[in-house]
Amino acid sequence: MLGVLLIHLVSLPFLYFTIIDIYKNNVEEQFVGHVRELTGLLSDFIDAKKSIDSENEVVLLMESALLGGEVLYIELADEYGNRLFPDAGLTLNTVGFSEDRYIGQHDDDIYFISLPVNIQLGAVTYTRFKLGFDEAVVNDRLSLVKQRSLLILGVYFICIIFLLSYLTIVIMRPLKALGVWSKSVAAGECNTNVALSTRISEVRNLSDDLESMRLTLVDQTERMQYKAMHDELTGLPNRSLNNDRINHAISRASRKRSCFAVLLLDLNRFKDINDTLGHSVGDQTLKVVAERLDLGIRDSDTIARIGGDEFCAIIEGVERVVAEKLAMKLAGLLEPSFQVNGHTLQVGTSIGIAIYPENGETPELLIQHADVAMYEAKYQGLKVISYHEDMDKNRVEDLQLTTDIREGIKSGQFYAVFQPKVDISTGRVCGCEMLARWDHPRLGLISPDKFIPIMERENMIAEMTLTVFDKHLPQLKQLLDAHPGFKVSINVSPLNLLDTSLLDNLEVSMQVSGFKTSGLIIEVTENAIMSNPLRSARVLQKFSEAGIGVSVDDFGTGYSSLAYLQKFPINELKIDKSFIIGLNKSAQNYPIVNATITMAHDLGMSVIAEGVEEMEVIDLLVEMKCYHIQGRFFSKPLSFEKLEDWIKSFNITEYR
Ligand code: C2E
Ligand code: CA
Ligand code: CA
Repeated sequence: MLGVLLIHLVSLPFLYFTIIDIYKNNVEEQFVGHVRELTGLLSDFIDAKKSIDSENEVVLLMESALLGGEVLYIELADEYGNRLFPDAGLTLNTVGFSEDRYIGQHDDDIYFISLPVNIQLGAVTYTRFKLGFDEAVVNDRLSLVKQRSLLILGVYFICIIFLLSYLTIVIMRPLKALGVWSKSVAAGECNTNVALSTRISEVRNLSDDLESMRLTLVDQTERMQYKAMHDELTGLPNRSLNNDRINHAISRASRKRSCFAVLLLDLNRFKDINDTLGHSVGDQTLKVVAERLDLGIRDSDTIARIGGDEFCAIIEGVERVVAEKLAMKLAGLLEPSFQVNGHTLQVGTSIGIAIYPENGETPELLIQHADVAMYEAKYQGLKVISYHEDMDKNRVEDLQLTTDIREGIKSGQFYAVFQPKVDISTGRVCGCEMLARWDHPRLGLISPDKFIPIMERENMIAEMTLTVFDKHLPQLKQLLDAHPGFKVSINVSPLNLLDTSLLDNLEVSMQVSGFKTSGLIIEVTENAIMSNPLRSARVLQKFSEAGIGVSVDDFGTGYSSLAYLQKFPINELKIDKSFIIGLNKSAQNYPIVNATITMAHDLGMSVIAEGVEEMEVIDLLVEMKCYHIQGRFFSKPLSFEKLEDWIKSFNITEYR
């Protein structure tokens, strides 16, 4: 706009002067032409009047020339410049004659011109006829044109200024507003809509386009924000939104002086599902879990997926007792089996609870403590545990033990003790169970209940099983050779049912030492089999094909049914000690044990009872046709040397 104004300010005066100049030249040309024409006519007239011989005639001629008004000055002069009427002259204007070559010369407002004549008056010959024409005609017309030009250009300039102001108001203002708006959008402020009222359709269209662009931008930003805050697979809030929610819960709780619970859930054996059935089944499983958990909490609470198979629930306004009940409910919701791609699956969970403010006042601390409690739950095989300060201490101990275990396996601190098994029907020792022991250089004897879960977690269990087995293999071979039909049972961790590497290594050891595979039984818990039925079936089949016996340990503590276990190559059922201890005192377990024994026999499995501490229990078991007995009644686990002696001196009649 300013540019247009400047251009006009420069070009209008230029235009004005050009017009005036052209006009002036034109008018002057016309004037001079006219003067020359008139002078010529006069000259012709004088020439035509051949005989001017009296002064009167000259005067008449001059007066007639002056009559028109255009001529202001007229005189006749001889060759010396003497005028015919030197005193009065016939001029209206008495200024002296000086011939002009252009208009305005000499500043006398008269255009002087002379022409040669030849007039004889008496003795004097007049040779020049001098005329002066009024220049006012030219000047008047020129000033009129100047006035009009100025008026036209002035009006034009005012119009331009009006036009520019109009354009500024109608176009520039909305454009400027759009400029300001787009700058604020660029700075991330997308919530103001582009509401421009303008009559210019192009600007209106531009504004409409920008508004729809803004809406798309808002929509995309919202979608991106949602994506950044939610887990794509389950649609649940992710870790960062979960942290936000905990922060909000903290500010609400601190305002109201109330408390809330952070529950950390981790699925048990989810990795197995992923590894054996593939990631798509794993993903479907996570979706089912997410849906069930979401149904289990109030709308005002949060359930988020904060890691692979890790979920976090924020339950506001509850104390520890209620939080624990709710956690049990959530764990219960996950228990029913479900179908994914034709597989019937079941997932369990371990839940750790941290309460605000007593277990932490920041999201990080609350999650960290819930995590510690969750690991403790896993470690203890429980569904729900609330955080306690001592757990941190246990964790440090665990870490130390983990390092010590590694060192201990290498330096041979692990060994086995053997608990004999007696066959009542023959009255003979029919086998023994190998149980691992750890003689810690500083802490002394450490129970397998303490080191086995750490080994399983750290994936060291197979190494320990092999090391201990190899250590006693030559002795066990001798025992087998001396007692035909004797069998050695070893405990195999669920982890070692995922592939055949343990079996491969055991087979090599047995081959080297000459230990017959038929002398070995592996004890696997029913939960180990059920956690990954497909894979377990394959691996157990390999053990069976190798001639190794398969025994289901701790039977009765899991969820499986005998009918289902029938599908696996199982030779023996070991009834868990919880059913056996006190069997003679409480009638409650009798029918269960009885039915189990009968069914196992029907399915061609042999049955052994562990945890037998009293003779009365043996009597009941014999009544139910269970003849294989293991327990402290006969012997606690013994070192190999003591076992050998024990077997030598064993006599069943001494126990009656
Ligand atoms: P388990 O396989 O159920 O082993 C039987 C446990 O019951 C042994 O405890 C044994 O000492 C104990 N026991 C024996 N007789 C009686 C009795 O009359 N009454 C009672 N109350 N208990 C009795 P232990 O040796 O402490 O082993 C505990 C668990 O550690 C074992 O339970 C087994 O699950 C695990 N374990 C031990 N050694 C190994 C191993 O080499 N590998 C694996 N994977 N696990 C092992
Ligand atoms: Ca066992
Ligand atoms: Ca057992």
